[in-house]
Amino acid sequence: MAQIDILSLTKDELSASVAEMGEKSFRAKQIYDWLHVKKITDFSQMSNISAQFRDEISRKFCLKSLKIKKRLVSHIDNTVKYLYELPDGQAIESVLMEYKHGNSLCISSQVGCKMGCRFCASTIAGWVRNLEPSEMLLQIYETERDSGRHVDSIVMMGIGEPLDNFDNTVKFLEILNSGGEGMSLRHLSLSTCGVVDKIYRLAELKLGVTLSISLHAATDAKRSAIMPINDRFGLEPLMKACDDYFRITGRRISFEYSLIEGVNDTDDSADELIKLLRGKKCHINLIPINEIKERDFKKSRFVERFQNRLANAGLNATVRRTLGADINAACGQLRRENLSADD
Ligand code: SAH
Repeated sequence: MAQIDILSLTKDELSASVAEMGEKSFRAKQIYDWLHVKKITDFSQMSNISAQFRDEISRKFCLKSLKIKKRLVSHIDNTVKYLYELPDGQAIESVLMEYKHGNSLCISSQVGCKMGCRFCASTIAGWVRNLEPSEMLLQIYETERDSGRHVDSIVMMGIGEPLDNFDNTVKFLEILNSGGEGMSLRHLSLSTCGVVDKIYRLAELKLGVTLSISLHAATDAKRSAIMPINDRFGLEPLMKACDDYFRITGRRISFEYSLIEGVNDTDDSADELIKLLRGKKCHINLIPINEIKERDFKKSRFVERFQNRLANAGLNATVRRTLGADINAACGQLRRENLSADD
């Protein structure tokens, strides 16, 4: 019988499994603590569990781990980029960034991506598989172990579309919420290209997650040209879902807008964005696009001009600081290089 991936079980699921083994419920709590507070890497470390029960546990469950395949440290700002190898040999990326308010970790949610955004390196070789909840958690646990730094906030902005791996993402959030990170999900941002039906499902769960929308263009024509998801869910239903998310959860939405020369960085594009977002309670993050060698999109030269035009219309936007510029820290680039190296 296949072993159960113990780190992917929610507290309730673990309790049910432990009860099936004929053990009292406090045992489940002890084990959950070892897994998610003390973050053990081997069942033998569970010193308050009898050797006999530990044996039973290691027959029924497996404890997954990630291997560090590559670690790149930025000499500019201490950003650390990890290429992690999963148990089946696939690779994903996580990026640890230092901010004034603490350490933030950007994690992946899938191996590859189906969404096909034209400017994104993660999508070029397509989608391989979803990550298990354990594989999302382990990116945090391994990074903390390796770096000796505590992760204070998480952004789901690495490889993959978290809402295209909805059930595993929600389980990951539930475990994080009831585990040892002591992290309110307010300190977690989930970034989506705009999978509208799943935005509603997430809102209804009221997990308190901050939602980031990868907008990148403010008309359907311009957005569809760079983001295929826009043909499935256009701007009208997307903006309605954002309003509803805010109404249901009370959490402000963040809009990401990566500026690409000649594509979405003109004064007209700024005015379209103003029209779309004026009066909304939201944050706007402008990002100078990271150029990837497989595509010829160029970084905009008009970031400041774009920002000023928004400001003059009363819309405050921040320009995201580029971190890890010397280590290729943009989405999917490291895995992509690794794939080509293996070819
Ligand atoms: N699938 C999710 C999360 C992963 S991408 C999403 O679409 O939001 C994380 C963010 O990086 C998104 O805003 C995405 O549009 C952006 N991004 C991807 N490639 C980029 C690049 N080359 N330069 C700048 N931003 C990029």
